[in-house]
Amino acid sequence: MENNQELQSLLDRTVAVCRSLTGDGRQATYIPELATVDPSLFSVSSATLGGALVSSGDTGARFSMQSMSKVMSLSFALEKFGYDEVFSHVGMEPCSEPFNSIMKLEMTSSTPLNPFINSGSIVIAGLIAGRIGAGAMEEMLDFASRMTGSKNGLAVNERVYMSESSTADRNRALAYFMRSSGTLSFEVEKSLDLYFRLCSIEVGTDDLAVMGATLANAGVNPLTGERLTSVDTSYTVTGIMSVCGLYDESGWFAVKAGIPAKSGVSGGIVCAVPGRMGLAVFSPPLGKGGNSVAGVEAVSRLSMELKLRGM
Ligand code: GLU
Repeated sequence: MENNQELQSLLDRTVAVCRSLTGDGRQATYIPELATVDPSLFSVSSATLGGALVSSGDTGARFSMQSMSKVMSLSFALEKFGYDEVFSHVGMEPCSEPFNSIMKLEMTSSTPLNPFINSGSIVIAGLIAGRIGAGAMEEMLDFASRMTGSKNGLAVNERVYMSESSTADRNRALAYFMRSSGTLSFEVEKSLDLYFRLCSIEVGTDDLAVMGATLANAGVNPLTGERLTSVDTSYTVTGIMSVCGLYDESGWFAVKAGIPAKSGVSGGIVCAVPGRMGLAVFSPPLGKGGNSVAGVEAVSRLSMELKLRGM
């Protein structure tokens, strides 16, 4: 089913059913600005490889990418520095510890298990900041804007950035630990600054659905026709989304929904189903594993109805 009207009524039904779940879970508060977001907001978007963008719910809602930006920074780093270079700094294995855990870093090796946990993404940000220098954030915003097909260009939400940057003791601990072991090759504060800014880029579910569709379309944005990544990069990124995308609930989500996805603590989930479509949901209240409760349910229902599982 990818007829736009059918897709629209499926999304409308999904929003109607899953909205009742927005009361379950609690939104993130460890970044104070995230606690100020209206928890009842709920939106769902889909972008087909034919270039149709269909959405439902509070589609005007804007929120910060948080960990969903890790999909974009990994894509960018693979394009700029290549597979061998990137995976000499981070692994690609799932992590059974929380996203901001320091334990695995110390106990196993000093290399982060994958690029979607905070330590791994800080290493990727350090690589980008160190190699590109002062223009890194501008280049990243341009890349993100083109990947999402954003007409006016994406921007950082400065309040979220300040809120995160001023309360990030845990991420600073991770970064200083990795700097001491030589895993983080660039300056701690400059690496973190890029990481915080990337997490604070503001989007809506339409933007994220197109970003997912770009990866699903082997690296070509289906709305603009622009190639953003190589075919290999798109497969590498969606592969890692499949096994590492929902924190330490990635295995559970793979069984429940069965599609490549990445969540963020703002309550969004971006999905890229190779050869089919991009999907995105937003609902701030999170479950115990840090994933949007209504969002996971909506993605699972859409995956089943659209027969996306196992694509
Ligand atoms: N900026 C958040 C942090 O570093 C991202 C976490 C997330 O969305 O998983 O804690």
